[in-house]
Amino acid sequence: MKAKSDPLAVRSFFIQTFGCQMNVNDSERVAGLLRSRGLEAVDAPDRADFVFLNTCAVREKATAKYRHALGRLRRLKADRPDLRIGVGGCVPQLEGETAIARATHVDVLVGTHTLHRIPELMDEAGATGKTAVDLDRKADAFAIPGEIAAHENPVRAYVTIMEGCNHVCSFCVVPRTRGPEVNRPPENVVREVEAAVARGFGEVMLLGQTVNAYRHGETDFAGLLERVDRVAGLNRLRFTTSHPEHVSASMAEAFRRLPRVCPYLHLPFQSGSDRVLASMRRGYTRQEYLDTVALLRDRVPDLALSTDVIVGYPGETEAEFEETLSVLETVGFDSLFAFSYSPRPGTTALRLADDVPADEKRRRLHVVNAHQQLWQRRRHEARVGGVEEVLVEAVDGVGRVSGRSRHFRIVHLDGEATLVGRTVTVEVTGSGPNALQARLLQAIH
Ligand code: SAM
Repeated sequence: MKAKSDPLAVRSFFIQTFGCQMNVNDSERVAGLLRSRGLEAVDAPDRADFVFLNTCAVREKATAKYRHALGRLRRLKADRPDLRIGVGGCVPQLEGETAIARATHVDVLVGTHTLHRIPELMDEAGATGKTAVDLDRKADAFAIPGEIAAHENPVRAYVTIMEGCNHVCSFCVVPRTRGPEVNRPPENVVREVEAAVARGFGEVMLLGQTVNAYRHGETDFAGLLERVDRVAGLNRLRFTTSHPEHVSASMAEAFRRLPRVCPYLHLPFQSGSDRVLASMRRGYTRQEYLDTVALLRDRVPDLALSTDVIVGYPGETEAEFEETLSVLETVGFDSLFAFSYSPRPGTTALRLADDVPADEKRRRLHVVNAHQQLWQRRRHEARVGGVEEVLVEAVDGVGRVSGRSRHFRIVHLDGEATLVGRTVTVEVTGSGPNALQARLLQAIH
């Protein structure tokens, strides 16, 4: 049993987030909630009264990172018994009873739909000296209003438009951690975007596991983009992650027609082999993926594309792996996230032998990344001499800042901290595989 403690003694908090942008936005909303209860955010766990770990279960590696972090907190708590520890998100939601059994030293344990209960559960744990738990996946995942989110990025506000996923990808744990799709009413999304703009965010990124599957009543994803695009004062609109099966002609048109929608799309293809795609239950073939890219590029010829691939999926042969490489060659992605296949609890792929040896997975990962670096180098070189619009978001060092172009490329330039939040035009003077170098031309707004 943990020591009882005075709830009022909890004055500061620190949140460590693992995983995707949706987890980041969940943490942002938890931070907003804790602030609204008078707690102050601090920048290190050893300065906090309450430390919350927001976990990711998508690959074993992410879960292992969280377990290390929890181990460190246990040691910290041995020195400071008053420290409160919270664990939430995908891992406890997936593990259920196992997570509860393992939660010694943890004061608060919540899932993906019960983050709003953290303050009450902290009080409960303080009063009883026991772990306070709520893993109810039927609770309202949007109970913490996005309007109070403490956004991490100074210029880009994440706005979650849907929770969960209705796909059945064989490798993916997300439907089990976040449940089936629940779409927010469009007017709530628009209100949150308006609030973000009123707080000074020039850019909004709409989030969902399969964001372009969005539908609420008569409003489909293209309809939602249309409504958000009209929000006065918004300069840039992005969204992630899109699923190839839900790219429609109206979505492609939205890129062309709507002035705030930026020409950048993250569109995971996972594998270039039809046999592997069918086994993954992705719902498209290699050719259908390429046709989707062709449709998008027909409407927006300079659309920047990024993607996810998985190497070493069960049974993936060398020839099948090379088909993945050939998709990279055919499409020419602007960036790529490559992952080694990781068997996950409760997924259908778990029934298949994880038969690609770890060394071979590493080699394939290396080959994909090396290939991609060459592509990025080429694509970035082609921008040198051109003019880009950059929204400045960070100070890199003395007299140096960086931001993103409309195509989501990282751009470094000379400039002072006062440029953060400003939209500027730059001339691209140099390039590398991961970023562009540029010279400031003019601040626009
Ligand atoms: N919902 C999105 C989709 O279906 O395209 C992305 C979800 S997931 C959070 C992000 C990426 O992690 C996936 O696109 C996939 O490449 C990778 N991933 C998911 N499960 C994996 C697994 N079991 N092993 C390796 N990579 C995995």
